[in-house]
Amino acid sequence: STKEKIAIIGSGNWGSAIARIIGFNAARHDSIETDVHMWVFEEQIDGKNLSEIINETHENVKYLKGVKLPTNVIAEPDLAKAVTGATLLVFVMPHQFLPRTVPNMKNMYAPNARGISLIKGIEFEHSKPMLISELISKTMNGMDISVLMGANVANEVALDQFCESTVGTYVPANGEVWKKVFDWETFRVSVVNDVPGVELCGALKNVVAIGAGFCDGLEFGGNTKAAIIRIGLEEMMRFVEHFYEKVNPGTFFESCGVADLITTCFGGRNRKCAEIFAKSKGAKPWDEIEKEQLDGQKLQGTITAKDVMTCLKAADVVGKFPLFAKIYMISFEGEPVEDIVKFADVIAKH
Ligand code: NAD
Ligand code: 13P
Repeated sequence: STKEKIAIIGSGNWGSAIARIIGFNAARHDSIETDVHMWVFEEQIDGKNLSEIINETHENVKYLKGVKLPTNVIAEPDLAKAVTGATLLVFVMPHQFLPRTVPNMKNMYAPNARGISLIKGIEFEHSKPMLISELISKTMNGMDISVLMGANVANEVALDQFCESTVGTYVPANGEVWKKVFDWETFRVSVVNDVPGVELCGALKNVVAIGAGFCDGLEFGGNTKAAIIRIGLEEMMRFVEHFYEKVNPGTFFESCGVADLITTCFGGRNRKCAEIFAKSKGAKPWDEIEKEQLDGQKLQGTITAKDVMTCLKAADVVGKFPLFAKIYMISFEGEPVEDIVKFADVIAKH
């Protein structure tokens, strides 16, 4: 058939929430095959396979409890099977699992397949940041990879609370295809042609959210958090400007920019875990907090803070990014959490 065939690679909190919308759109658009395959990293829940539970109850009881998925979303634990014949590949998993996952696709997808990354994080290569979308493209023989980022806390999207999202693409025709896949009454998608800008907004705001969580743990009010958000936005823009030739300021006014930054600094998992870290005065290890608070879901902001610091050190520009540096030093080098608002020493030292 000439219809597009969608495979979703990942089924965590966001993967499941977006699978619900993708399922609705696949069912209503003639140009897309109704059945959507969703790869599930298999695990047992009370002795039963999660993929079977999803297919029988249409609910991801572990990662998106209480929300029904449309019946045309089919869980598949075998990745090669999940992507067989797919023309549209949606990558949505914690970024640390990506490298070990991609090879298992065994080139079973369609030759004309295109991809989109919903993954918020960065990689690092040859002393420079590397986009996750670039990494995917490289490992998939140069496949066109777009990105989708936005103010989209998964549990709220799953409840059909109105929000917006941004697709970044190199190929406008592919952007239009992705808009069909994602745009929904309560999930409004805009398309822009700035992949690095959109993707880095999504990755970097998770670092700022750690700073926002520190403010909450220290019981600072709205003024301080607003200052962290503003400085964070400035450093996000500076980062894109420094490592990528052109920065498109308009991107930062899309949902992927300022809107995602705000929602994550108020309602996200990174914020929540950072608040607990601050309340423990930095004594509680991150992996313990992650385990206790997120029940298998994954923190991205701490890993990204490390990756960002690696990039800043390699480029010798730490002093231009005092907030990012502070967040890293508090998170991993034992600096007191109260120092989140003391930037002078970073600037002086670098
Ligand atoms: P999640 O945080 O719920 O992570 C859990 C997922 O990781 C589960 O599907 C689990 O099966 C899988 N997993 C665990 N071990 C694995 C392994 N060894 N190999 C492969 N997979 C394994 O995931 P998520 O919320 O769907 O996040 C995916 C991406 O989407 C992240 O980059 C995140 O930043 C981004 N994102 C999340 C949200 C949100 O609100 N949750 C919103 C927008 C974007
Ligand atoms: P957290 O991972 O901090 O929950 O952020 C979710 C998100 O990316 C919202 O767009």
